[in-house]
Amino acid sequence: MEENDVIEIVKEFIATKFPKECECCGRRYDSFADFLHNTFHLGKPMSYDAESGDWQPVEPLGTLSMATCSCGTTLAISSSGMNVKTLWRLMKWAKTETEERGISPGELLNTLRSRTDESVLRDEATRETERKQPD
Ligand SMILES: [Zn+2]
Repeated sequence: MEENDVIEIVKEFIATKFPKECECCGRRYDSFADFLHNTFHLGKPMSYDAESGDWQPVEPLGTLSMATCSCGTTLAISSSGMNVKTLWRLMKWAKTETEERGISPGELLNTLRSRTDESVLRDEATRETERKQPD
């Protein structure tokens, strides 16, 4: 599995989390792109399983990415609901990458999150261009 495959899987999975609403102010995020435009990342994403050294968790603790809503509330995007076999494939890739690059799971996830965000925003820009130039 290549990094681009991982990004596609993550993007597809996170897209299922939207629309998402802030429980505090009621702000509705219609899409992953909308969320990225209007929130700020808070710290590095965290895989509780990888941090505890379990790369093939039978009952996953999960991975969390935190963001701040414009109202200041912390919003979490988690891996909950992900098919466990898909999670294992991603974690197997992550384990190899952390070893090869000599970085921590948090650092790897941080890089992966940046690339995923870029990819989501690129997809959005492509859709915008296509909408403005109908064939
Ligand atoms: Zn809010």
